[in-house]
Parts: sequence; C-alpha cells; structure tokens
Amino acid sequence: MTKCPMCEKGTLKKGMVEEEMFGVSLGKFEAEICDKCGESFLDEAAMEKIEAKAKELGVWGLSKKIKVVKSGNSLSLRIPAKMAQYLDLSEGKNVFLYPDGKNRIVVEVA
Ligand SMILES: [Zn+2]
Repeated sequence: MTKCPMCEKGTLKKGMVEEEMFGVSLGKFEAEICDKCGESFLDEAAMEKIEAKAKELGVWGLSKKIKVVKSGNSLSLRIPAKMAQYLDLSEGKNVFLYPDGKNRIVVEVA
C-alpha cells in the first residue's frame, strides 16, 4: 500500500482518471487515486500516452507566453500561427472578447 503524498492520510488505489487539455477530453488513463482526498497520480507511461493523445488531437503545446504590443491607442496580442490554425481563425474573422475576473481574457471564436 502506498500512502498518499498529498494528504498523507489516504492510500493509493489503481483506477481510471479522465484527462483533458484546454477543454478537450483526452480520454481515460490508469492512475493511482487516493481514497481520502481523491488526488490522482499518473505514472510515466500514462503521461506519455496523454502526450501522444494531445499531439494527435492537435492540442499539445498550444499554450504560449506572448508579449502585449501597442497598436495606436489600443494594445495588441499576437495569436501564434499554431493556435490560429487550431481554432480555424483567420484575418477578418470576428471574435468576442471579454474579461473573466481580473487576470484572464477570454476570446470566443464564433
Ligand atoms: Zn490523499
């Protein structure tokens, strides 16, 4: 029996956990799940499967740190080509922009 490293109270039992990346489901993977706090731990083999699935679905490596640039009186964000391609976004398309709290911007692609 392995003790849970998170809560140090529960024990880890094998089970399946659903993984997702950027809101896209990657499927279920074998993990060790704590019977007390519910935290799940994936082994290296599962991590590799998750990475392979994310690459297959085109969501791997989509997050990126970008710089805000000035554009007239406004500010501009450059959307990386890979992300634009994934979202089927091109010049001239309309998007809906709004804040989600004080440190997040949501851009909805219609
Ligand atoms: Zn735990």
